[in-house]
Amino acid sequence: MSGTGSGSADGRWLAGIAASPGIAIGRAHVIDRRRVKTPRRRIEDFEIPDELERFEAALALSDEQLERVKRKLREREGEDHFQIIEAHQLILHDEHLVEPTRRRIREERANAEWALRRTVEEIKSVFDAIEEDYFRERRSDIDFVGDRILRNLLGEQVDAIGTPAAGAVVIAHDLSPADTAHLHRASCAAFVTDAGGKTSHSAILARAFEIPAVVGVERATEKIANGAMVIVDGMRGQVLIAPTQEELEDYRGRSRRHSAFVGELLGNRDLPAETTDGARVHIFANVEIAEEIPSAMDHGAEGIGLYRTEFLFLERADLPREEEHFMHARGVLRRVTPFPVTFRTFDLGGDKVVAFAGAGKEANPALGLRSIRLCLKERGLFKTQLRGLLRASAHGRARIMFPMISGVTELREAKGVVEEAKDELRKEGLPFDESIPVGIMVEMPSAAMTADLLARECDFLSIGTNDLIQYSLAIDRGNEHVDYLYHPLHPAILRTVRYVVDAGHAAGVRVGMCGEMAGEPMFALVLCGLGLDELSMNSTSIPVVKSVIRASGLAEARKLAQDALALATVEEVERCVHEAMAQRFSEDLLRAAGEVSGSKTTG
Ligand code: PEP
Ligand code: MG
Repeated sequence: MSGTGSGSADGRWLAGIAASPGIAIGRAHVIDRRRVKTPRRRIEDFEIPDELERFEAALALSDEQLERVKRKLREREGEDHFQIIEAHQLILHDEHLVEPTRRRIREERANAEWALRRTVEEIKSVFDAIEEDYFRERRSDIDFVGDRILRNLLGEQVDAIGTPAAGAVVIAHDLSPADTAHLHRASCAAFVTDAGGKTSHSAILARAFEIPAVVGVERATEKIANGAMVIVDGMRGQVLIAPTQEELEDYRGRSRRHSAFVGELLGNRDLPAETTDGARVHIFANVEIAEEIPSAMDHGAEGIGLYRTEFLFLERADLPREEEHFMHARGVLRRVTPFPVTFRTFDLGGDKVVAFAGAGKEANPALGLRSIRLCLKERGLFKTQLRGLLRASAHGRARIMFPMISGVTELREAKGVVEEAKDELRKEGLPFDESIPVGIMVEMPSAAMTADLLARECDFLSIGTNDLIQYSLAIDRGNEHVDYLYHPLHPAILRTVRYVVDAGHAAGVRVGMCGEMAGEPMFALVLCGLGLDELSMNSTSIPVVKSVIRASGLAEARKLAQDALALATVEEVERCVHEAMAQRFSEDLLRAAGEVSGSKTTG
């Protein structure tokens, strides 16, 4: 993902991707870590053992350094944030990294630096081929690990980002999770990077640490001078260099209002999302990695409505084993207990197969062998995950959710694998929750149209609007050229949501929503009116969505939904919803709410 534009004509405004909300004002601390050069050198036979040894030593040193980062992190943060560092340690010892490098040294008579660089490039090219942003972004993890080994081979200082002064705004090409944790400890005010996307690990950690961040700002490291005064607006995804006195005052005011608003909302975080006339909506968090759990619970989540387990896959080149699935899921459940966790089984993209199963590249990965289709083809992989999740279910309130279900046949097949896994565990005498709820995501028109049939055969439905909108309106969710067509309030989407909710309720199952639409405060009222039982969203949206629901009546929400459903165009529906919200909530609250959630509609 690259920056969203180059900014203003005078070059003072830079635009990027809003990665973590908040406003920071401070002096720039530019980290200049240019790429290391690694020319090829042909080595002689007698040099091979030495070269191999140098490589092993660099691996061991890298491991030691990461261990130190982890230790420091644990002292300061407890157990919360070091799993990403562990993921880097796993990459460090991964056979896909280590073996080809050794082979290049031995067979191609290459120096260790070049052999390693080639291997890293090869692994990254697999990640590059993957269409979805958050898969593609994992290649930066490989980069960070490769860079660390390389610098150790060259005897360079590895953790050379230094310690910026407290309150500094860090400007870097890219930041590893270890860097991000280090900057958090150094109390830096914000960070801005040339590279990265909303779902890169450093962005995820910035949100978990609540450090404002703008990523994907094209050539920020070249455009911002060390020591320059900058303003980082993590809500709008903007960076302002050398602000005027007036601009500084303006942003200080905005920053104060934002902090006050967030503080006020957090005061209500533990209150239930209950309408003034007593209807209860359950508010859950969407979580990608375990590091986000404390932030989710601190924002008042009543559980996790979407745990994107595929992240377990993305930090490595091999497959997780059952024991890892089990330990990971058990750890998550323990931290969230007594609340429930909905584990979504692997939702891997079509191209992901390339990395593991050697399948060819697909012309249309979004319509290809992905998600549940891949799991049903690779049953071993699927069952391994299910066994791990089932075993973990003995330690908390777990739910299992299948992504991208297209119809009843697929649901039955997936449930069949769950039953097989359960049978095996029973025979092996391993405990699990016999009545673990099994549900599906409704994210394809075919699933929506058969929601009544699907609901009879599963325990809950969760509407995944990110894909549902993509497939219903035929717009690639990653293509900025059709982004203007992305309208969650399209009449087709509202009707689909209504149909799915009614179908689920008629079959006696709960219906939730876990796409980005669920975390948009502007839509909270109409979603309540459509009858959703659960909304699962990014953590920072939780307090504001709760506040909107707590200030509204179900009767008025239903009336709004009814009015909106009767309208013909997106524009009419949007106007109707915005007007209804504007009547009930102050302009300030709506603007601030939009900023907290990074909303496009209210910002
Ligand atoms: C969705 O499609 O709405 C969803 C929540 O899943 P993902 O964004 O992971 O595809
Ligand atoms: Mg989806």
